[in-house]
Amino acid sequence: MAKEKIILTGDRPTGRLHIGHYVGSLRRRVELQDSGLFDRIFIMIADAQALTDNADNPEKVRQNIIEVALDYLSVGLDPEKSNLFIQSQISELTELTFFYNNLVTVQRLQRNPTVKAEMAQRGFNDDASADNKAGIPVGFFCYPISQAADITAFNATVVPVGEDQEPMIEQTREIVRKFNSTYAPVLVEPEILLPDNASCLRLPGTDGKAKMSKSLGNCIYLSDDSETVRQKVRGMYTDPGHLQVSDPGKVEGNTVFTYLDAFCKPEHFEKYASCFVGKKVSFEFHSLEEVKAQYRAGGLGDVMVKNFLYEVLEDTLRPIRERRAKYEKDIPYVYEVLRKGTEAARAVASRTLANVKRAMKINYFEPGILDELIREQSEKYAL
Ligand code: ATP
Ligand code: MG
Repeated sequence: MAKEKIILTGDRPTGRLHIGHYVGSLRRRVELQDSGLFDRIFIMIADAQALTDNADNPEKVRQNIIEVALDYLSVGLDPEKSNLFIQSQISELTELTFFYNNLVTVQRLQRNPTVKAEMAQRGFNDDASADNKAGIPVGFFCYPISQAADITAFNATVVPVGEDQEPMIEQTREIVRKFNSTYAPVLVEPEILLPDNASCLRLPGTDGKAKMSKSLGNCIYLSDDSETVRQKVRGMYTDPGHLQVSDPGKVEGNTVFTYLDAFCKPEHFEKYASCFVGKKVSFEFHSLEEVKAQYRAGGLGDVMVKNFLYEVLEDTLRPIRERRAKYEKDIPYVYEVLRKGTEAARAVASRTLANVKRAMKINYFEPGILDELIREQSEKYAL
């Protein structure tokens, strides 16, 4: 039998999902789901992982589970095709983590660049001399191991995520190789699937910071209303050197253009041509390259480009918002999706855990095994 093609991916319920999630992961998930190329798709709401840096705020995590689920359904994830579930309700995942912990060194975890950056961002450090209230929660430090448990529990072959997840997938692959060579080849080594558009690998925040992130408060949320989107776009970081409209502007590192790279489609130029019609100057563009060329040459103001970006974003966000409004009126359905999805996911994780324990020979009470164990030990003591 050919190896099954299985997807596992997910999000931390630390806030509503934003357009960085959309281009980095969600949009691709929906395409993969609808491609029919995958045998199973597991989408996890990673509440246990969210608690690793929100231990004192479980209510935030609890409230955001429904937000993330609503965002999932709104972007087009279909519970008939994708198995949506809640991580903490699958205790098998924590058991797997416990065994994988033994296969990873502290030093290896310390080298993980994403975890390093996230610790710095959260003020977690091991500086004993400073006024160090934070320290590093052990659970947070080890979350790449728990992620390996999530991925391998479902035998995932493909993990579609943003670039920040690359070190996590590499850590998982190492654990799989170590486990399989130490015990028995029961775990599947996953591949990462990164966005194919460079600007989607790590969408910057509206403030121009390297990553749009719930924790940084620089997000345009999928559920923002259209006026909020307009305000956020209006306040976006562009090229600080572009003071006069007539000045040449920089496109590289200009967040407005990065978002256009991520969201703009060929049909938008005709559809939203009026954005480039002004009182003093007007332009007719047919491609993003033409817009960029004009911006670089000077004469094209930020306001026009931002108005265009707003329309482009709304073209994607409007239908998502409309679907969300529908699901918000049917909360019992959303929880039923999660409950059923969690039950189905748990069955799979439980089979993997059984295989893992069998490979490690810690399945003492399994039918047949106990008899053998008794025989073996009795013989030893019969001498
Ligand atoms: P937090 O700040 O709580 O970590 P986050 O915004 O980083 O939240 P996650 O839930 O950690 O979001 O990430 C979920 C998925 O979305 C991952 O696959 C991640 O790679 C992707 N992702 C998150 N932010 C971005 C971004 N700005 N650009 C591209 N992909 C992103
Ligand atoms: Mg994150």
